[in-house]
Amino acid sequence: MKKDAQYFETIIIGTGFSGLLAAIGLKKKNNNDFVLLERGSDIGGTWRDNSYPGAEVDIPTGLYSISFIPYKFKKKYSPQSELLEYTNYIIDKFDIRRFTKTNQSVAKLTYSDSECLWHVVMESGENYIARFIIDTSGVLANPKTPEIEGAESFQGTKFHTAKWDHSVPYDGKRVGIIGSGCSAAQAVPVMASKVDKLTVFMGKAQWVIPRSDRSYSKAERFITNLPVIRHIKRLMIFSYHEVRFAAFRRYPFTLTISKFIKYLYARTLRKNLEKYIVDEKLRKHMMPDYELGGRRVIPTNKYLPALSRDNVDVDISGIERITPTGIRTKDGKEIPLDIIVYATGFYAYSNMKKALSFQVYGSRGRHLNKEWETEAVSYKGIITSGYPNYFKVNGPNTGTGHSSQLCYMEAMVNYTIKAICAVKRDKSIKAIDVKSHVQKEYVAKMKNTLKLTVWQSSKCSAFYRKNMTGEVTSLSPESVVNFIFSRKWFRLKDYNLLK
Ligand SMILES: Cc1cc2nc3c(=O)[nH]c(=O)nc-3n(C[C@H](O)[C@H](O)[C@H](O)COP(=O)(O)OP(=O)(O)OC[C@H]3O[C@@H](n4cnc5c(N)ncnc54)[C@H](O)[C@@H]3O)c2cc1C
Repeated sequence: MKKDAQYFETIIIGTGFSGLLAAIGLKKKNNNDFVLLERGSDIGGTWRDNSYPGAEVDIPTGLYSISFIPYKFKKKYSPQSELLEYTNYIIDKFDIRRFTKTNQSVAKLTYSDSECLWHVVMESGENYIARFIIDTSGVLANPKTPEIEGAESFQGTKFHTAKWDHSVPYDGKRVGIIGSGCSAAQAVPVMASKVDKLTVFMGKAQWVIPRSDRSYSKAERFITNLPVIRHIKRLMIFSYHEVRFAAFRRYPFTLTISKFIKYLYARTLRKNLEKYIVDEKLRKHMMPDYELGGRRVIPTNKYLPALSRDNVDVDISGIERITPTGIRTKDGKEIPLDIIVYATGFYAYSNMKKALSFQVYGSRGRHLNKEWETEAVSYKGIITSGYPNYFKVNGPNTGTGHSSQLCYMEAMVNYTIKAICAVKRDKSIKAIDVKSHVQKEYVAKMKNTLKLTVWQSSKCSAFYRKNMTGEVTSLSPESVVNFIFSRKWFRLKDYNLLK
């Protein structure tokens, strides 16, 4: 044991919703010997970092909230500020701050076979030791900024949507936004009304679908937070999204309804493009030539009207290079800019080298980052054979393409806490390592199921695929009901018991 290393029974890495859930879960079971290590200067994950204009959730907060922590949200789809308020409410309610160390960026985890303990090295050089690791360092936590020739020569300001520089006013400025996914679709309408000129450097076509948002009255907020009513409301939203799953997964008995849903969305998008996009070439470009769901769907009513404004231009020719004064496009236009915004997403499991923010060395020197570059696999998306007592919430193939990620995260954290309690109950066990054949069977079953989803069968590129076009590595092929129930019970017999 390193002399200067601090020991905790459990180390939680990250303080987004899954880190908070893990802390609450441990506390509820009276496992209070834990610490949360957070690289940021404050607690909170996604909604602390993504404060770009217009940032908001695209699943109703009735479902995008923790099932046992009600909150009187003011809107159906909350903005980032309210989600951050909710995060802080949870932190205070469960007294999590005193268990947290901020400005603590994990650099390396190494498992010691002789001690059955994890050694944690921080970027600062500090050391920790733990019996259990709960890695909640996030999947959409590491912003992706494409390398564009000339970027360093730009004399204006440039930043990623996940690292918005609020010290730089954009009112009356000439702004270029690179990308046209969810973040861009949210930022464009807000910025368009304030900037002098906005140029959107648009990538591939996206399925833009309508969404109905509204504010809740005081009375509605009170009534829908009464326990029974809250659960009924949650169940209704849950069921609505669960039914939508049929559009993405090919069940033989839902093919007709799935085709019909897709037909309706295609008709609506075509109509909206006719209404808002005058330029025929752009209109054609914006109509996806791949199946609904192949890439992340964008629910918004504000994006297309914003693109039709006089002060908004859309470039589809592509970026040739960034110049000191702006961007030169492939069709030879020089676009002068004061600010460049990268709305270019994150390294999910599409690029393993960059997706994980630290190195993980398991039993007998195994190297998770290297192994996952070849094939990102684990058991139930949580624990990987060869990495005892290391639980990664939101591991490979645990993302949702149709519902609230918080439902999945609760299921994964509950499973993890059950596993930790089971290990602690039997005093002879030091650690557990999932049996490799159990993991193999699970992975094979999941890969077969993935073939039945639009995410895998679609021909387009997406951030949830390996190297953007390969196997689906981020999304789960399971419905939420299936996902929750297949992680409801922890079975010690799936594991090798290290004594
Ligand atoms: C812009 C945006 C919009 C989204 N909208 C939706 C939505 O509408 N619906 C939905 O279901 N999901 C949405 N998501 C997905 C969202 O990420 C999840 O819903 C959820 O918030 C993830 O929580 P988490 O705790 O797993 O990870 P995160 O919230 O990403 O937290 C990870 C934490 O780990 C910390 N960390 C990372 N590396 C280290 C390290 N080396 N050392 C220490 N700390 C580290 C990070 O700083 C961060 O605080 C969205 C994501 C983004 C980025």
